[in-house]
Amino acid sequence: MDIRRAAHRPTKVAPEDKFTGLVWQDEVVVGEEPSRMRATNVSFSPGARTAWHSHPVGQVLYVVSGVGRVQLEGEAVQELQPGDTAMIPPNTRHWHGAAADRIFVHLAMSEVNDRGEGTAWFEKVSDEQYGQPTDPVV
Ligand code: MN
Repeated sequence: MDIRRAAHRPTKVAPEDKFTGLVWQDEVVVGEEPSRMRATNVSFSPGARTAWHSHPVGQVLYVVSGVGRVQLEGEAVQELQPGDTAMIPPNTRHWHGAAADRIFVHLAMSEVNDRGEGTAWFEKVSDEQYGQPTDPVV
């Protein structure tokens, strides 16, 4: 059995060109063929978020702790709380990140497509886009 030890996988700072604010990434798995699985535990400081991006076969976000926000382009910003699972459809522009005043940690799970293509990145999320009111949690 192959156990990937945490001791050999230091936390990485997320790249500045794809994120706003301080974001930490802990790799969970980068699957090797025939697996297409990708999972990363991502910790956002308050106000930090991804840039706009899309995933070829979608993405699942599982909230570990804190309070976050997620938005599909053209829809309202939604608040995310611990235990929530957000389903991001394939090839859909969106962003995710922390609430303005709270840390936020999610497990991000996705797969590459049959051509091995992963996330497509676009422009950063403006403060105005980020600061829109969220829908009430029901
Ligand atoms: Mn995403």
